[in-house]
Amino acid sequence: MSGTRRCVVAGNWKMFKGPADTTRFFEEFLRRHSGRPDREVVFFPPAVSITTAAAALLAWPEIGLGVQNIHWEKEGAFTGETSAPMAAAAGARFALIGHSERRHVFGETDAQIARKIGAAFAAGLTPVICVGEKLEERRSGQLEQVLSRQLDTALDELAQPPSFLIAYEPVWAIGTGVNATPEDAAAAHGFLRQRLRSTIGSAADATPILYGGSVKPDNAAALLAAADVDGLLVGGASLDPAGFAAIAAA
Ligand code: PGA
Repeated sequence: MSGTRRCVVAGNWKMFKGPADTTRFFEEFLRRHSGRPDREVVFFPPAVSITTAAAALLAWPEIGLGVQNIHWEKEGAFTGETSAPMAAAAGARFALIGHSERRHVFGETDAQIARKIGAAFAAGLTPVICVGEKLEERRSGQLEQVLSRQLDTALDELAQPPSFLIAYEPVWAIGTGVNATPEDAAAAHGFLRQRLRSTIGSAADATPILYGGSVKPDNAAALLAAADVDGLLVGGASLDPAGFAAIAAA
């Protein structure tokens, strides 16, 4: 990790924890969380729990909140969707965009993801742009090709991209218990950083690249120590307040 970049440890709750569970989580998490000046903690609860999370975190403005997905329009006849301005009004400052479950379970395309990134910026949300290859893509030597395509299309429409975060989440490591090794993560992050430099120049050196995929309390420190790994995006292990407090302090 570089001293010049923020270190961000984020919890993606996916479709877990309604409002009551959210309140209970923060009661316990905040008892255990001491906070580190060199580390930013961000939670992505389900959209229906963002206002509850914001209320629980009133006295902790340094802990960030985000939304797991947004639509690219501000409002309209889009049943079931949440817009970026609505998420911001509910208390979100970040938006996860292009998570592999959105891409592979819900069929989101690179073009839709690019529009969502534009919508996040327009609403003042910081996008956390998720990229990552499937196992067959890695095995057939397409890792760099897949990451380049995902990254380039994500940033395509942005002449001068303001600040954003990248999350490298190899699909084969998500929810499987098989994390990438610190060496695998460093190689992919190094590639992404170089690719970013060719698009946004020296701003790439200030862009945090988080690793995600089966992060647990016992592998967090080793992953954080890998070159070019500036933080973690944690799914399953972020649901447990004690475990996630340990990861945030790792
Ligand atoms: P996991 O999920 O930590 O449960 O593997 C990571 C993610 O999907 O962001």
